[in-house]
Formats: sequence, structure tokens, C-alpha cells
Amino acid sequence: MILDGKRLKEKILNDLKEKVSSLNEKPTLCVIQIGNDEASNIYINQKRKMCEFIGYNFIHEKLDEDVSQDYVLGLIDRLNNDSKITSILIQMPVPSSIDPKTIQNRVKKEKDVDGLNDYNVIDLLNNRDSLIPCTANGVLELLNEYNIDVEGKHVVMVGRSSLVGMPLFHLLENKNATVTLCHSKTKDLKSITKTAEILIVATGNKHLITEDMVKEGSVIVDVGINKVDGKLYGDVDFDNIKDKVSYISPVPGGVGPMTIASLAKNILKAYEIQKDID
Ligand code: NAD
Repeated sequence: MILDGKRLKEKILNDLKEKVSSLNEKPTLCVIQIGNDEASNIYINQKRKMCEFIGYNFIHEKLDEDVSQDYVLGLIDRLNNDSKITSILIQMPVPSSIDPKTIQNRVKKEKDVDGLNDYNVIDLLNNRDSLIPCTANGVLELLNEYNIDVEGKHVVMVGRSSLVGMPLFHLLENKNATVTLCHSKTKDLKSITKTAEILIVATGNKHLITEDMVKEGSVIVDVGINKVDGKLYGDVDFDNIKDKVSYISPVPGGVGPMTIASLAKNILKAYEIQKDID
């Protein structure tokens, strides 16, 4: 069965649109972009469309490539202190003259809809309610939608980035899964992935996971996005695996749409935290 992120995203966005229509004051997302990265322009446009659809206000602060870090920090301070701006997102990547962690950590915890600043990460590690990184949360929402309970299951997470693998590792542990974390230095990856009841892959290697590496009847979540000759591929060899497993997410149409849906949810959550709404 296909884990259909596209359909679930539409459902989540429609639910949010209805909720937001009853708010007098609308949540506002401000995206800070430094430079003119082509992929970033596309991602920001997707965020703009999502905001327009739901009824959020959208502000795009596009800064020159050679802007100083002090200027960016000053801008973040101004946005932090502006009660109308309820969400702040720093579009990655930033130029090498800017330290991403320093600017991310300057964003007020309750406006950090990427969930990537250290204060939200500490909450996540301690299993406290927080703004959770969007892709990681999107994976959990997708599993939840199909009633796939992770408690007590052996989940193998391939990839340990601070964006995807690490937060998922902790979120899954917090949900009482038994999690094995694999990475580029893991030896004999196949012997581990074959034991996974749920296999989540986020590495950026086209078709790293082949049919012989998965357990029959398991659940496969493919986070990877690899563009080869203009076509998108996941980290999982979908065509040769889909008939062997019980659930599998496609690329595109699986985790990708869930990332934007999770961002949309975080924007409302951030607003509610700041306005102290239950
Ligand atoms: P990253 O480069 O920061 O991390 C990659 C991780 O994979 C590292 O921990 C590395 O150790 C591991 N890895 C690399 N090669 C490996 C191998 N051969 N065997 C085992 N582990 C290996 O990447 P990231 O930001 O976590 O992104 C991973 C993939 O997910 C990329 O394709 C990215 O485009 C995609 N992604 C998709 C979404 C989405 O919305 N669907 C969001 C974020 C990232």
C-alpha cells in the first residue's frame, strides 16, 4: 500500500484553512533568504502558495548574498520583537560568510517554525512539547495516518542529519520504538535494514536501498530526493520493492508534501503558543 503524502497534505491544508478562517488576526510567516539560490527560490514559492491557500500572511525578506551576519541578526531581532510576525524561517543554504547555527539560534524559540534552533532541539530531546522539525514530523504524521504504531517496533533510521535523521531518532525513541541509527560509516548496512519492521531512509543516494535489503511485509518511508537527468528519485528502489512490503512512500508524493504540511501546522502552533490559545 502506498503512503500517500500528497493526499494527506491536501487534507491537512484544508483543515488548517478552515481553522484560520475563524481567526480575526492571521498568523504571519516571514522567510529570510540570503542570496539567490535557485532551489531556495522554488521552495520559498511553495511556502508562499501554501500560506496564500490557508490564509496566512507571508513576508519574504530577500537579502543580498554579501549581507553581513550582524545585519541578519539585527533583522531577526526586529522580527522577534514584532508581535505581528508569528513565524520566522531562515531558508537554507546561507552563504559561507554566515554561520547558520548562530542565526538560527537567534530566532525566538516560539517563532522557530523549522524547529531547528537549539532551544527547540533540547525540548525535543527531553520529550517536551515543542516546534518539531517539519520533515521529521511529516514522517510521523504519515505513519499515524495509516495507523502504523511504532511502539515496540524495530525501526531502522538510515541517515543522521540534524534536519531529518537525528530528530526522527529521538522522536521515535520517545514513542517507545526500538531504533537503530545507521549512517555512512555503518558496516554491512543490509544486515541491519533486513531486520527493520519500519525502515526510514534519508541519505540523498538514489536507490541506496534495494529489494534484497528489506524485510518482507515491512514499512518503508523514503525521505530522499535525488534529481538525476531532470527526474526525481528516492533513496529506495521503489519499483522493485513495492510488492514485497506492506507500506511504502513514493518519491515524489510521499514525505515531500508532508514537509510542507508540517510547516503549515507549525505556523498555526507557533501562533497559538504566542497568543496563548489552547
Ligand atoms: P545530509 O546530507 O545532511 O545527511 C545524510 C545522512 O545520510 C548522513 O547522516 C550520512 O551519514 C548518511 N549517509 C550518506 N550516505 C550513506 C550511505 N551510503 N549509507 C548510509 N548512510 C549514509 O542529508 P539530509 O538533509 O538528511 O537529507 C537526506 C535526503 O533527504 C536528501 O536526499 C534530501 O534531499 C532529502 N530531504 C527531503 C526532504 C523532504 O521534504 N522530502 C527534506 C529534507 C531532506
